[in-house]
Amino acid sequence: MPYFCAYFTLNFPKTAFFVQQKRCEKQARTTDSVTRNSILMAENLPKTHTTLADFLQRFFTGKVQKLSINAGFSCPNRDGTIGFGGCTYCNNRTFSPDYCHDAGSIAQQLQQGKAFFARKYPQMRYLAYFQAYTSTYAPTEKLIRLYDEALGVAGVVGLIIGTRPDCMPHDLLEWLAERAKTTFVMVEYGIESCHDTTLRRINRGHTFACAAETVRRTREAGIKVGGHFILGLPGETHEDIMATIPLINALELDTVKFHQLQIVRGTPMAWEYGAHPEHFGLYRTAEDYCSLVCDVLERLSPTTAVERFTSSSPRELLIAPDWGLKNFEFAALVVKEMRRRGSTQGCLCPIKV
Ligand code: SF4
Repeated sequence: MPYFCAYFTLNFPKTAFFVQQKRCEKQARTTDSVTRNSILMAENLPKTHTTLADFLQRFFTGKVQKLSINAGFSCPNRDGTIGFGGCTYCNNRTFSPDYCHDAGSIAQQLQQGKAFFARKYPQMRYLAYFQAYTSTYAPTEKLIRLYDEALGVAGVVGLIIGTRPDCMPHDLLEWLAERAKTTFVMVEYGIESCHDTTLRRINRGHTFACAAETVRRTREAGIKVGGHFILGLPGETHEDIMATIPLINALELDTVKFHQLQIVRGTPMAWEYGAHPEHFGLYRTAEDYCSLVCDVLERLSPTTAVERFTSSSPRELLIAPDWGLKNFEFAALVVKEMRRRGSTQGCLCPIKV
């Protein structure tokens, strides 16, 4: 499950077009940031890290864009199936089943997304990104119908599915494995931390062993696998985070997303932060977090592509930290610092390409 996966659902008026328009604008900004990073890294200097674009180039020629979809799923860590209350950092005001209906059908959402990007990039192809909530939390027949609907839209060349590691049933994995023989299929798991004490503290409802096992099953089924991690969770020191990296490397993920911990209004974590800010080792400055990210990159296997380093919650919801930087600006800081160090991804990692 993507970190703050549900945020985009809160602040936009409930009309399908406007919602998808906003989603596409955000994705366009991400595309721009990737472009800007490419420019930054194309100065005849060594690349500092393996990007998502590098990864996708192994499978596609030309531009490929992820299009986020909200398929109306819910979350087993909220409805009591796995837990109640959700992950403590997740804003439960975003849990609005109505939104899903208002967003339109899968095909409609994809068509709207395509229309947005096609103006600038007529040749663009698309990956349907089932992002919101837990995108494998439904009966398998229903899931297959929704995924097939997405793959049936012209120009859609693959599937990316965000979910929890404890929500990948065997029959669905088998179907995805069959699809992956002819189509680009990737599952992104919200792993968030490799430390079970942290996972309990943030009420994730699963262990790291569960995540590792599901990643293994998925990889061995021939499906590409991504992982999400939050850096700076309460109770985790710099050493704890560094101890995480060999465990991430052992997962042999294709892609990884890192996010700084953000304290967001309306969450249990916001209350905890208000009562005990001293329990949170938040990265107060972008430079501090940049230094951490570079330490992580130096130890991260170069075979794992890094999709992002940061997440941006809506300003009106964000309590801390607020660095006032766009994601691409932060990525530029990372590139600059890696170059200052003379480092590249994996330079301190025993796994070499
Ligand atoms: S698993 Fe559920 S509670 Fe946790 S971040 Fe995802 S939607 Fe929120």
